[in-house]
Amino acid sequence: MLKHDADLELFRDNFRRFMQEHIAPYYLQWEKDGIMPREIWTKLGENGFLCVDLPEQYGGYAVPTYYSLMLVEESARAGYGALSTAISCHSEIAAPYILHIGNEAQKQYWLPRMVTGEVVGAIGMTEPGAGSDLQAIRSSAILQQDDYYLLNGSKTFISNGQHADLVILAAKTDPAARAKGVSLLMVDTHLPGFKKGTNLEKIGLHSQDTSELFFDQVKVPKQQLLGQAGQGFAYLMQELPRERTAIAATALGAIRGAIDITIRYVQERQAFGQPIAKFQNTRFVLAQAKIDEQATAAFYERCLELYMAGEMDVQTAAAIKAFSTDMQMKVTDHLLQLFGGYGYMTEYPISRFFVDARIQRIYGGTNEIMKEIVARDLLGR
Ligand SMILES: Cc1cc2nc3c(=O)[nH]c(=O)nc-3n(C[C@H](O)[C@H](O)[C@H](O)COP(=O)(O)OP(=O)(O)OC[C@H]3O[C@@H](n4cnc5c(N)ncnc54)[C@H](O)[C@@H]3O)c2cc1C
Repeated sequence: MLKHDADLELFRDNFRRFMQEHIAPYYLQWEKDGIMPREIWTKLGENGFLCVDLPEQYGGYAVPTYYSLMLVEESARAGYGALSTAISCHSEIAAPYILHIGNEAQKQYWLPRMVTGEVVGAIGMTEPGAGSDLQAIRSSAILQQDDYYLLNGSKTFISNGQHADLVILAAKTDPAARAKGVSLLMVDTHLPGFKKGTNLEKIGLHSQDTSELFFDQVKVPKQQLLGQAGQGFAYLMQELPRERTAIAATALGAIRGAIDITIRYVQERQAFGQPIAKFQNTRFVLAQAKIDEQATAAFYERCLELYMAGEMDVQTAAAIKAFSTDMQMKVTDHLLQLFGGYGYMTEYPISRFFVDARIQRIYGGTNEIMKEIVARDLLGR
């Protein structure tokens, strides 16, 4: 169990106040617009809520990683699932790739800009023909005159895709090879030939800009290769534990937030002359949600400890991702039921908790793939 950290609680209160002032009044409109304004990133940066665990020489605050994950959890708890995912892709996924794999010049260039929000980060793996089976990606980046990579292809479903200034992109630098041909490039989205496609319409996470990206003869300077050519898959394996722990942070926050609002609702809503909180079913459903929350929190905190100790392995990361997001889906579904018809109305935040939960079982590797990883560990292949 992580010990109580008074500074973390102060930081949490600051972030809650920030959300109250800068997110709450506008979030429903952003959901209707299908996107958050670009300025929210600079506002998050100005207030010290991006990439907070980065070392000080890159502009960060060098606080433990669980401070950073707390922001992902709290935004989900407040009912801002799209914000939680956006911050997660930027601070929990894109920035750590650069910190762990990048060279000094790359870190000095990109990371301070990500801390301030001047640069929004995204991670571009999925393609129309390659989701779970990432080895099938077709985007290619071929080195020309030992000077730049010529990038061609497309990506889809890329979170932060509209606002992104930087995409950590998986592409084949050796198209003849399968996994061994995949490399990671840091691609500046302002380069000629880089085109942002449609901001995709989704059943949930409406204000999260999830986009197609197209690359037509984009010249990516060879200095923007992340790590070694051909090592893309190895880097993915290395970084997935953080990504999947972050998805669990969103799940835990959402479970807690759904419980918070349901406790209030069932005490106010009357049926048969009494608050619906008096019905045994209501009490049992809420109690089960609390039990599920406690189980998720215990597993999540254990994973945080493992991650902080550098001991989080791929199968444990897969397990927490599948477990926490299955719990999130189950809890939000069961709690929505307690709202009756109002639970189906977008005006009631529980409806958002429910629709935003659905994607969590799909992205970051589907939960079926997570079970494959756990099974492979059990069975040896
Ligand atoms: C809102 C949203 C945001 C996203 N953000 C990003 C992002 O920022 N960056 C990014 O790169 N991608 C992102 N994705 C893509 C996401 O990671 C993929 O959708 C996901 O990995 C699944 O790939 P797919 O959609 O191609 O499904 P498929 O791979 O076609 O899978 C279809 C079904 O087959 C099952 N399946 C596939 N292979 C196996 C197997 N071996 N065993 C058992 N079942 C299997 C899957 O579990 C699934 O149920 C996002 C997706 C969405 C919808």
